[in-house]
Amino acid sequence: MIDMCGMKPDGKPYRVLIVDDSVFIAKQLSQILKSEGFEVAGIAPDGRIGVQMYEEMSSNVDLVTMDITMPGMDGISALEKIRAINKNASVVMVTALGKENLVKRCMLMGAKNFIVKPIDRSALLTRVSAVLGIKPGFAK
Ligand SMILES: [Mg+2]
Repeated sequence: MIDMCGMKPDGKPYRVLIVDDSVFIAKQLSQILKSEGFEVAGIAPDGRIGVQMYEEMSSNVDLVTMDITMPGMDGISALEKIRAINKNASVVMVTALGKENLVKRCMLMGAKNFIVKPIDRSALLTRVSAVLGIKPGFAK
């Protein structure tokens, strides 16, 4: 049996909140993470709802994937608000190619890592694993 990187040593899944206005990207992230044993705690279509969901589930979310470009509250503002709720929050930014300055700003604001669209399974799992401090024992 292949080790699934989404499982904690105690067998419980890591819980991920996905914040993305693209239903397609959210579904992709969700499918990849679920295939490795992660639990999707929720999917929020914009920053405002993402922050609200994070606040409601706060102690029960291990990682947030945060799209940068969203209508209404964008990922940068949502990152700031989530960090204000929990300064140790693990937030991984999801960004289109060519947004280096925005990504840099997010990293300075406390984002733990980033992934560039189109979503690559292996890159996603490697970075999520690094943020959670687990070894990426996933099937490539
Ligand atoms: Mg977007």
